[in-house]
Amino acid sequence: MKDCIFCKIAAGEIPSDKVFEDEYVYAFRDLNPQAPEHILIIPKQHISRVEDVTDEDRGLMGRLVVAAKHIAAEAGLKKGYRLVFNNGPDAGQEVEHIHLHLMGGRRFSWPAG
Ligand code: 5GP
Ligand code: ZN
Repeated sequence: MKDCIFCKIAAGEIPSDKVFEDEYVYAFRDLNPQAPEHILIIPKQHISRVEDVTDEDRGLMGRLVVAAKHIAAEAGLKKGYRLVFNNGPDAGQEVEHIHLHLMGGRRFSWPAG
């Protein structure tokens, strides 16, 4: 999508610190990390938020989680990690291209703030 920063990152038009890529998924380090490991995992296809996910996207959304598993294993996050979709303004979604946060390397509290 035109003017979407994460579409541009996935297309290589804006530089990023890539950690994983395949035909459908792109993952890169968050610019403002909130944990020792903080990676954003996105579909290359533009989807703004969870409300826009369709039945046809079920496989694609699963790919984000499978990518997270591989990235976490690669990063040696044996003690666990947090996976988060911030969805909509109340959840603090700033970028309107759906993204899965993978955070690890420290302990996280619950409930989330
Ligand atoms: P949200 O608040 O939408 O769930 O998360 C957006 C995340 O994207 C934030 O953690 C922010 O630091 C990160 N971010 C925003 N713009 C860029 C960028 O241009 N490059 C990278 N690597 N991360 C970004
Ligand atoms: Zn996009």
